[in-house]
Amino acid sequence: MNTVLSFLDPARPEPWASFLEQIDRVAPHLGRLGVWIETLKRPKRVFIVDVPIHRDDGSLAHFEGYRVHHNVSRGPGKGGVRFHPGVTLNEVMALAGWMTIKNAALNLPYGGAKGGLRVAPETLSRAELERVTRRYTSEIGILLGPTRDIPAPDVGTDQQIMAWMMDTYSTGQGETVTGVVTGKPLCLGGSLGRREATGRGVFIAAREIARRHGIEVSGTRVVVQGFGNVGSIAAQCFAAAGARVVALQDASGSIANPAGIDIAAALRHVEAGHRLAEFPGATPIDDEAFWNTPCEFLVPAALEGQLTPERASRVQTRFVVEGANGPTPPAADDILAERGIIVVPDVIANAGGVTVSYFEWVQDFSSFFWNEDEINARLETIMANAVRAMAELAEERKVSLRTAAFIIACTRVLEARDRRGLYP
Ligand code: NAD
Repeated sequence: MNTVLSFLDPARPEPWASFLEQIDRVAPHLGRLGVWIETLKRPKRVFIVDVPIHRDDGSLAHFEGYRVHHNVSRGPGKGGVRFHPGVTLNEVMALAGWMTIKNAALNLPYGGAKGGLRVAPETLSRAELERVTRRYTSEIGILLGPTRDIPAPDVGTDQQIMAWMMDTYSTGQGETVTGVVTGKPLCLGGSLGRREATGRGVFIAAREIARRHGIEVSGTRVVVQGFGNVGSIAAQCFAAAGARVVALQDASGSIANPAGIDIAAALRHVEAGHRLAEFPGATPIDDEAFWNTPCEFLVPAALEGQLTPERASRVQTRFVVEGANGPTPPAADDILAERGIIVVPDVIANAGGVTVSYFEWVQDFSSFFWNEDEINARLETIMANAVRAMAELAEERKVSLRTAAFIIACTRVLEARDRRGLYP
């Protein structure tokens, strides 16, 4: 292990440590391509930037930002940008690594990248948020480009931030370059269905895996952590398919209703600026008791590391469907496996977002836009095929769904590495 890039803390495995352990677990399954495994354990490029802005009151503020290219053997870097006060380089490296695996698992023509800015966006005015976004984009600008590195939204970023990123990059180029980011507003070359794509993909992955176990979604109970872009849309899809969402948790707290929470009403409540924990259509529950709620599907859709080994030992579910990136550290994965709980891994379960980002990028290049039915039909096909390939390989090799997804992805990445060879 390269000591410079080692952030291993055995007491509290950080995201990059979890990623490295996942790679170690897949290594014995890669045959002759295993000689290249070290490629996946080192990010290709790590970029740290200082992002200074003037606050509205005239004072100066500095924020630390990152953009990591984990691997670009199969195509340009692709991955979101996170604005959150807890962002660290360790986290962004892991998120970039998971993007490499996800893009390859779905066979999208991309490498893996991720960016982050250590900032609490809700503490900035709109004008400050615009300035910090533009300065961050400018600082990482030498890495960006529609055939080099294409950011997208993640926690704390949205369509408006993508619009500012696109505008900042385009201004420097002297032309409008819509394909440099995805997750843009429709009027700037965004795609129909992109905002809903990740949550919809989580639902498709859950439905397909459950069917393989003889379970239909209708009539099941669902518990969702995170009520942002991914969690709220996934909850809506489950509810529309006849499931009951019996507990929700976000940063404001946890709520439950055994009869099923009215998701549309909960969304209206949150969108009106109220705290989810105070939604009148459910009862507040303790944040730790939330993890004991009996259900068929548990969907962590907030941040990484949430399904700790301790929580994994007491969840009462048949399936964990990872809407978030990296919610289940390897030690928790082992506990869930011992308890017979099936984990649908992030690199497949939440890949709907990057799949429709790919559609957006293709539409931007061709300047020809598809209708929503076409997008959703293609998303269904790609997701269902990826889930089937993962599940069949897991059965054949007698490995977990995560290891199967990693075998498929790492084989694609390392085959590309092998055929390209090393320069010089
Ligand atoms: P978001 O900012 O829209 O929502 C995040 C949600 O998590 C919010 O409801 C927030 O209150 C909640 N949350 C934050 N900290 C929490 C805590 N400690 N306990 C409980 N809840 C907490 O973000 P998002 O885009 O929905 O992303 C959620 C996860 O999905 C992230 O792991 C992200 O990387 C992953 N993801 C997002 C996309 C996408 O297209 N947006 C795609 C793939 C994966």
